[in-house]
Amino acid sequence: MTVSFPIDVASPKPRQTKQSRVSWGGNVVTVGGNAPVRVQSMTNTDTVDVIGTAIQVKELALAGSEMVRITVNTPEAAQAVPHIREQLDRMGIEVPLIGDFHYNGHTLLSQYPACAETLSKYRINPGNVGKGDKRDRQFGQMIEAAMRWKKPVRIGVNWGSLDQDLLASLMDENSRRVVPWDAKPVMYEALITSALDSARRAEEMGMDGNQIMLSCKVSGVQDLISVYRELARRCDYPLHLGLTEAGMGGKGTVTSTSALAILLQEGIGNTVRVSLTPQPGESRTQEVIIASEILQALGLRTFVPSVTACPGCGRTTSTTFQELTQQIDNFLRDKMPVWRQQYPGVETLRVAVMGCIVNGPGESKHADIGISLPGTGEAPAAPVFIDGEKRMTLRGESIAQDFQKVVENYIEKRFGTAVVSETV
Ligand code: SF4
Repeated sequence: MTVSFPIDVASPKPRQTKQSRVSWGGNVVTVGGNAPVRVQSMTNTDTVDVIGTAIQVKELALAGSEMVRITVNTPEAAQAVPHIREQLDRMGIEVPLIGDFHYNGHTLLSQYPACAETLSKYRINPGNVGKGDKRDRQFGQMIEAAMRWKKPVRIGVNWGSLDQDLLASLMDENSRRVVPWDAKPVMYEALITSALDSARRAEEMGMDGNQIMLSCKVSGVQDLISVYRELARRCDYPLHLGLTEAGMGGKGTVTSTSALAILLQEGIGNTVRVSLTPQPGESRTQEVIIASEILQALGLRTFVPSVTACPGCGRTTSTTFQELTQQIDNFLRDKMPVWRQQYPGVETLRVAVMGCIVNGPGESKHADIGISLPGTGEAPAAPVFIDGEKRMTLRGESIAQDFQKVVENYIEKRFGTAVVSETV
């Protein structure tokens, strides 16, 4: 058979957007333009609890969140913001803080200037800035504060708090159509119009378009895809992407991934947040891990070394390889905050942990470092492959610990050299 053309290599298509800068201290996070897709998260502590909030922000930042949003809902919360910032600065955490405002943001930003100055970005929900003639005035006050303090804003529409006057007027308009649209496209239109009209009003007030980001969050996968495709078509503002109220555990992870992956592949989305409801006892950092993994799986970012592992089957009845995979994964993740500084490029490492001889040696050879564990009935030996070649065989009870040492030595040798050569 003759093949006359190469098969396309799939890759995300870049979307041209304006570029914003969200900064604190020496940490400048660029958003949009040629910048990588950024990971965001949000705390679930009471902002008034300065220490508790600072600790959670630190955890989220160390897990890889490049910006962290905190709710600013009361005068006490606004007063707490500069103190949270002080705590973080003292801990050496320069992650930019984003203030999440609803209903009273115009008052808080004008009455608490230290809060307005300390926050690196404001999130404004145009559905929650006031009703009737107050809406434009109060929205305008928030934009004025952003311009006064030179802060970027995200105009963040959410279908749970959509501007009801706007929706009603679009519904009226729709009823006068010869063939009225279904209710869903009207709702999509209301979300997009709310975001774009608010951005236009901000620019008319003198705000630099590069200081504006938009989002239109909904909780249905197909709804999110429809809305963001259209939003991306109609503007060149950076877009914050997230499926709102995604839910818990596997369901929240799968729905968020399904929606975000499709849009990111189309170049839509400049910052992402995975809105997971933590399971009881689960760390808030899980949403950061999932967001990072989506970006890494799509080849958009590299955060941590990847671990390829087989699912296991009847050929390996022991749990050794499951435990080893888990241990290696935890080991790499735990070490990353230090390794990131110590070993530049370590996040590109590929590790394979395989359950038996069927795919073990093959998959291990594709990785930088891989181990093929003995399946049922195989000799109790685990060959280790480094840079595609079999270098050693591990045996005995301490295979897991021995393999971790092999990985650590490999990292030190390969990525430690990078530090030396950069500093020479
Ligand atoms: S590598 Fe072996 S143990 Fe793992 S899934 Fe394949 S056949 Fe099963």
